[in-house]
Amino acid sequence: MCELQRKDMGELKATSSANAPPSDSSIEKKVGNLEFLCRKNPGLYGELAKGKYMILYFSNSVYMIVACSDSRVCPSHVLDIQPGEAFVVRNVANMIPPYNQTKYAGTGSAIGYAVLHLKVKEIIVIGHSACGGIKVLMSFPYDGTTSTDFIEDWVEIGMSARNKVKAQNDGKSFGLQCTYCEKEAVNVSIGNLLTYPFVREKLVNKNLTLRGGYYDFVNGTFDLWTLDYKLASSLSLSL
Ligand SMILES: [Zn+2]
Repeated sequence: MCELQRKDMGELKATSSANAPPSDSSIEKKVGNLEFLCRKNPGLYGELAKGKYMILYFSNSVYMIVACSDSRVCPSHVLDIQPGEAFVVRNVANMIPPYNQTKYAGTGSAIGYAVLHLKVKEIIVIGHSACGGIKVLMSFPYDGTTSTDFIEDWVEIGMSARNKVKAQNDGKSFGLQCTYCEKEAVNVSIGNLLTYPFVREKLVNKNLTLRGGYYDFVNGTFDLWTLDYKLASSLSLSL
């Protein structure tokens, strides 16, 4: 086992934890369980390590999932996804930003890798109940002030969802508005996918399907939907 220690000027150096105090970290137990699973399933994990992972990636059943970072909604756990089955991107409030090579290179590179190299057939954006990121989006004043370095700017990607929900549900409870926005923000993210040229090309050639999903872990339900696209010279989204 090792740990990272901060050295001069922010340098990080891996050192032995032999002299570190005992840890009850649950991640260490998880690592122990993984080592057990590897010994129990040497065929699967051995083949994955040798490259069949990529073969699985290129099968027809492969898809990309965009889900929230929230620990309650891990897609591998919720949907029982096995290693090699899905390419997963997780971020606060499961947002897909519009195409921007500098501002959103992290998400853009993941979408590009999934679409162009893994050749996924489906991209599924999954929202969820009681999403803290959506709550920020719905409650933050956006008056020029910020209370965090990143979160408000990030979830602002879903601003059109917030505006639509607030306009159509004036007088309804904040909690209900948040629930509506959790679903509407998924549609906004799917719409943003249309701003990626390589996504548009795959859609026009019918090599890609975009889906929305909503996992309500309070009521134990999962909704899945597909949006209609107008495949004209420039793609537009019908909601
Ligand atoms: Zn969330």
